[in-house]
Amino acid sequence: MTAQDTIFGKIIRKEIPADIVYEDDLALAFKDVSPQAPVHILVIPKKPIPKLADASSEDKALMGHLLLTAKKVAEEAGLTNGYRTVINTGSDGGQTVYHLHIHILGGRQMKWPPG
Ligand code: 5GP
Repeated sequence: MTAQDTIFGKIIRKEIPADIVYEDDLALAFKDVSPQAPVHILVIPKKPIPKLADASSEDKALMGHLLLTAKKVAEEAGLTNGYRTVINTGSDGGQTVYHLHIHILGGRQMKWPPG
């Protein structure tokens, strides 16, 4: 099994459907299937990096691109009052899909600390 063989790999390859809100050569953004807020979008690299801890210095530009993509997607979703961005990493981080992703959560007041 390769790192690409996640549910998100299948979404990138259009093998399973997703509500895609943004796509370019490097990144994809789509609505979370189990939204935890009125707006819940995932931004992922097309490169199959399993988790943030696996990113390397060669991914520097890509990581910047993902953050700026998250900003653009949040703007296009109308989140003018702000939003929460989350990257769950590994077991203690609560990661369930091992293809790096940035959660964008918005449309309600977020709380701190997270669970
Ligand atoms: P994690 O827990 O790894 O940070 O987040 C994984 C997220 O992916 C969860 O919020 C979950 O709801 C979402 N997810 C899992 N499978 C699918 C799917 O097949 N389609 C979409 N759109 N989201 C998914």
